[in-house]
Amino acid sequence: MSEQSAAPRKAIVATGEMKRLMSDHFLSLDQAKKEGRPKVAWCTSVGPAELLHSLGFLVYYPENHGALLGATRMATDFIPVANAIGYSPDICSYLTADVGAYLKGQTPLTNAYGLATIPKADVLVYNTNQCRDVQDWFAFYAREWNVPLVGVHTHRNIKSVKEHHITDLATQIKQMVPTLEEVSGNKFDVDRLRETVRLSLECTKLWRQVLECGAAKPAPLTFFDATILMAPAVVLRGLPEAVEFYKRLLQELQERIEQGVAAVQGERHRLYWEGMPIWGKLRNLSDLFSSLHTNIVASTYCNSWIFDAFDPKEPFESMARAYTELFIVRDESYKEAYIRDWARTFAIDGIIFHDAKTCPNNSNSRYGMPQRMSEGLNLPTLVINGDLNDLRCYSEEQAKTNIEAFIEQLDERR
Ligand code: SF4
Repeated sequence: MSEQSAAPRKAIVATGEMKRLMSDHFLSLDQAKKEGRPKVAWCTSVGPAELLHSLGFLVYYPENHGALLGATRMATDFIPVANAIGYSPDICSYLTADVGAYLKGQTPLTNAYGLATIPKADVLVYNTNQCRDVQDWFAFYAREWNVPLVGVHTHRNIKSVKEHHITDLATQIKQMVPTLEEVSGNKFDVDRLRETVRLSLECTKLWRQVLECGAAKPAPLTFFDATILMAPAVVLRGLPEAVEFYKRLLQELQERIEQGVAAVQGERHRLYWEGMPIWGKLRNLSDLFSSLHTNIVASTYCNSWIFDAFDPKEPFESMARAYTELFIVRDESYKEAYIRDWARTFAIDGIIFHDAKTCPNNSNSRYGMPQRMSEGLNLPTLVINGDLNDLRCYSEEQAKTNIEAFIEQLDERR
């Protein structure tokens, strides 16, 4: 058994600034709804946020709200409310938690930022590159509020991204422009779009560098830190404040590396996390891994906001490429090669797969991948059954026992 001890952690200073940024973001959305301007667009986490910013919308991300519902453990109370109106317990628990919270008239934004309600959408904009659930989720609100619903349908299960994938998606994004002009009351301006894409590119490059800090030994941040610190890359991408924030965060992490500051004291093992976070158990899991002197130094999930392809010279085409090149859009062989690459670069000792009950799209353990990765990389793998938000699908005791046994296995290999 690995030696277990309380492992004090040095807080990341930039987290305080991030909280202020997030507060400003939600307060500006609230103000916009009170004043009727600017208009508010709801957008799926991967975009096309750049187009919305360029048209002057304030952008709200329901998946971020879903994660907040999970992290505050409010989700488990609200999911049955959505189930009662016909949304299955087997579909995305972001969707069911969010719809349930809406039906109950509650939101974690009240305690966190003083908002009485979520900001109502003037238009709903989805991208199915991650799943179909987002379209059905937004369709609920389109019916509820009688507001326009537009979106794009990305090709899926792609081995290599081809020109026709890009042309098709870029055309779909362009076709949304007239509706978005009408709702926003602003004329589309390609130079504003180029500038937003440029800012998104800068943000994403910095976010990549932040995550790459995890390759240092010892690593200066954990997967659990990154799930929190990624918030500006999700909700403020395309805005200058996200760029400034990641410059400061990167500097802090680079200083930590220079000074040998470890996020996990006495780092003994380095793991890769494949799949969604278990939002309501982030703290417990973080403490557990710290006590086992094990750091989760890389993950597919946090990498999902790295968009290398953005290019202000070709804003529509590069958005299409960035949203299509993502891990979640790709086939099994691409995904395996991707994880292998990160595992080698980050000197990973083992991989944890989270099989999230209500998100098959982000659960890659169901068709033999852990076994193949284990053989190919000669690394142990562990599958944890759970869920992003529905804690009824997660047994803390069982997960703890399995994780401890897994770390013992890693100890024996040293
Ligand atoms: S990818 Fe998964 S978690 Fe995200 S919206 Fe779709 S079903 Fe929900």
